[in-house]
Amino acid sequence: MSPAAPVIEFSGVGLTYPGPPPVPALQPCDLTIRRGEYVTVVGPSGSGKSTFLNIAGLLDAPTRGRYLLDGIDTGQLADADRTALRGRRIGFVFQSFHLLPHRSATENVLLAMVYNTRDRAGRAERAREALARVGLGHRADALPTRLSGGERQRVAIARALVARPSLLLCDEPTGNLDTATAGSVLALLDELHRDGMTLVVITHDPGVAARGERTVAIRDGVLTERVTA
Ligand code: ADP
Ligand code: MG
Repeated sequence: MSPAAPVIEFSGVGLTYPGPPPVPALQPCDLTIRRGEYVTVVGPSGSGKSTFLNIAGLLDAPTRGRYLLDGIDTGQLADADRTALRGRRIGFVFQSFHLLPHRSATENVLLAMVYNTRDRAGRAERAREALARVGLGHRADALPTRLSGGERQRVAIARALVARPSLLLCDEPTGNLDTATAGSVLALLDELHRDGMTLVVITHDPGVAARGERTVAIRDGVLTERVTA
């Protein structure tokens, strides 16, 4: 069987924040993540994990090297095309959920599709489906302030999934959750992985890191593959 297609391909990708003083946050590195893989990223605070994720998610452009996303050379894209590619192919989940507090779960998910101007009627249906997918079909009209931390993070995951991305990038997704609640979010990530989603999950927690099939470690901006099992 041929290997699955690469989703992320870094060749000599690095980023130095200009400063002053310049901060070499990610040293040039090579990395391939293929469709359907579940990769975790570990490393101490300030080591470059979010920098790595922001580059992978097209939120930041590398200052060195070449990044192919789904085979597309992202360095060759105009800003508008980068933004469009990000919107179509990448879902983000952050530690602090980033939900709008005065909008319902459904509205928060719908807002992720505001750039999708076609098929307005279909959007509401897709938002409902995404909330059902994360086990929150019965809480679709709830405000985030009425939801538990774990439920809020599941709304954020529904929002990340609704555009049907090829890649889900999570930056410390359980960092604000207690152990039991974190467990339900991690179980959901496992399910998404089983369904074929490509996952990259940053974590401080060795228990979370162990759920991935592969772990990448970053220390002082140096990325290395950590061989497990
Ligand atoms: P982590 O997510 O592992 O905690 P980050 O990727 O956020 O680490 O940060 C890596 C390094 O880059 C740190 O030294 C941080 O202070 C620095 N850094 C992050 N963002 C910026 C920025 N916008 N400008 C300058 N330096 C930054
Ligand atoms: Mg970080």
